[in-house]
Amino acid sequence: MAQGVMVFAEVAGGELSAIAKEMLGVGRRLADALGEPLQAAVVGSGVGDVAQEAIYHGADVAYTAENDALAQYQTMSYTDAMETVVKQVEPNVLVVGMSDNGRDLGPRLAFRLNTGLASDCVSLSINAESKLMEAIRPVSGGNAMATVVIEDARPQMATVRGKTAEPAARDDARSGSVEAIAVEIDAASLTTTIVERVKAESEGVRLEDAEIVISGGRGFKGPDDFYGILEPCAKTMNGAVGASRAAVDEGWVPTQMQVGLTGKIVSPKLYIACAISGAAQHMAGCGYSKTIVAVNRDPDAPIYQRANIGVVGDYTKVLPAFHQKVAEL
Ligand code: FAD
Repeated sequence: MAQGVMVFAEVAGGELSAIAKEMLGVGRRLADALGEPLQAAVVGSGVGDVAQEAIYHGADVAYTAENDALAQYQTMSYTDAMETVVKQVEPNVLVVGMSDNGRDLGPRLAFRLNTGLASDCVSLSINAESKLMEAIRPVSGGNAMATVVIEDARPQMATVRGKTAEPAARDDARSGSVEAIAVEIDAASLTTTIVERVKAESEGVRLEDAEIVISGGRGFKGPDDFYGILEPCAKTMNGAVGASRAAVDEGWVPTQMQVGLTGKIVSPKLYIACAISGAAQHMAGCGYSKTIVAVNRDPDAPIYQRANIGVVGDYTKVLPAFHQKVAEL
């Protein structure tokens, strides 16, 4: 019988990735609710230390699937490796974080395992009566939430967005077992070769990692205030600059600054939304922020329904005054 909650513990730069820590946090809660063990699947080359890290972050057992051909993520080799691990361990639930790799891996793996996949989820829980996983995901462009239940197939599989859950706390005193699973990868059968990896250059704090994010929207009416007003303010606060899709679509700022359903998901301590109306699709990317401050000249703007603090006013006046106060601190 399928048993246990397995997390794909993704490795990034030779270490347990940030999203893996979040997924181990999600998995731990599911495993406790089910009374079943939490299993980490660590795929790569030379990942013994990462497996131990997964134990410190809440796993009861870490399964390693090691092979030289798995040194870098590749769709087919990782699908093969995870298929082997899952078929051998037979978990009840399988959780994959939605990093670029997880987003790629999830659907293929679900197909190989002939199981259902709840994709793009923001919350997972266990129904107390049925003991089935309930996966919540946004639908209809973020205007509604659907609950997906995989009734018969196993594992019950979900991909989960990053920044939607608290990461598992590290506890060096935790003990668990590390078990190796042999995986055969026919390197010659891989249809892609990674020639080079180029890291995107970015100045300042990464949007996804920033503790303070200050975003601008269509009310900015052009790029000048993004770079003349918003960016200097963000720099003073050691924060990152974000934008609504409307501002990106206008071509004022690059796509990588977009926050929302089809952009980046951020969960900073402080999110300041300036001249952004608060559409559901935007809030899908920042709604998990600890404190949301809205600056909008329309007192009826929908964003005030989600903001913790609202400032009704013109951003061209509010932001410079705010910046000056922050600079004086
Ligand atoms: P608007 O809705 O036009 O709001 C501008 C606001 O600025 C208004 O509230 C106005 O009162 C205020 N304002 C104007 N001038 C000033 C001033 N001088 N001072 C203060 N306030 C002022 N959107 C996203 O952001 N991210 C996404 O990832 C995303 N994905 C989407 C996916 C789908 C499938 C769909 C259908 C839509 C998506 N959208 C997304 C678009 C979303 O629905 C909204 O259209 C968009 O968020 C609106 O951007 P905005 O708030 O900047 O613009």
